[in-house]
Amino acid sequence: MSRTDILSMFDQHGILPTPQRVEIAEILLSRPQHLSADQIIERLRVAGSRVSKATVYNTLNLFGERGIVKEVMVDPVRKFYDSTTRPHHHFYNIDTGELRDIPDAQVSFSELPELPAGTSEESIEVLIRVRGNG
Ligand SMILES: [Zn+2]
Repeated sequence: MSRTDILSMFDQHGILPTPQRVEIAEILLSRPQHLSADQIIERLRVAGSRVSKATVYNTLNLFGERGIVKEVMVDPVRKFYDSTTRPHHHFYNIDTGELRDIPDAQVSFSELPELPAGTSEESIEVLIRVRGNG
């Protein structure tokens, strides 16, 4: 995603384009990927950036709230930021810490529960935890 695309996305989602926010978006939205806050901080450091940890966390929260990234909780203390925002499925490897997309066509349900009265389906997202280094 180019800087122009990022700026127009910020504009559409009501995000003020500070240099730090643009820098973080450039890393996260450069391709389809899943990064933790620590991985993003690491990449910023490698790129010579001096954005503070607090700014990174605040920015990621803002991006999540405004829907330009998807937050995926894999356990109560581990969260990934996903550049693919539509509902989709994941494998999470608890040994390697890798989160990977599962193609939609590979997940189907023979039966789903009846929805609670007065509700409608918003999305279905499956997280399959695996282990091993295969
Ligand atoms: Zn994903």
